[in-house]
Amino acid sequence: MKGAMNMYELGDIVEMKKPHACIIKATNKKANAWQITRLGADIKIRCTNCNHIVMMTRRDFNKKIKKVLIKKSED
Ligand SMILES: [Zn+2]
Repeated sequence: MKGAMNMYELGDIVEMKKPHACIIKATNKKANAWQITRLGADIKIRCTNCNHIVMMTRRDFNKKIKKVLIKKSED
């Protein structure tokens, strides 16, 4: 299994399998857009709605990521 799971980079916005618990005021939906703010053996992601930061191992991240929403390099 190669490919999708390795296609993220620092700064990308990703969607996770589980949304964050916070609610986006404009849409009244749970937020599910996270920016990758650290990419090493551990990965740090920041909720783009409430700025909550979650850190996890790369292994966990690979299990929990759903897809990349916005590639930073394509800005
Ligand atoms: Zn949030």
